[in-house]
Amino acid sequence: MAEFMMKPISQNDIGERTIFNTGVSTVGKGGDDYFCGHCGRKMIHNMNLSAIEATVVYQCGGCQSYNLPPESESADETASV
Ligand SMILES: [Zn+2]
Repeated sequence: MAEFMMKPISQNDIGERTIFNTGVSTVGKGGDDYFCGHCGRKMIHNMNLSAIEATVVYQCGGCQSYNLPPESESADETASV
């Protein structure tokens, strides 16, 4: 289990992605913790976002800003694997 800071994006960067509002807190069944890249709030507890194949934007329940999981940053570069 590790802690990750989400990648902050603006509303203009959402594009075709699905928006998931984490609300007060989102708790998974095991994995990592993720923090809002805008306000630092812990958005997601014990969830493995890298296992989610859909491209999702995570909206912070605190500041209502948008974040991408850190893993998605290199998704395009590993397409040839
Ligand atoms: Zn936030």
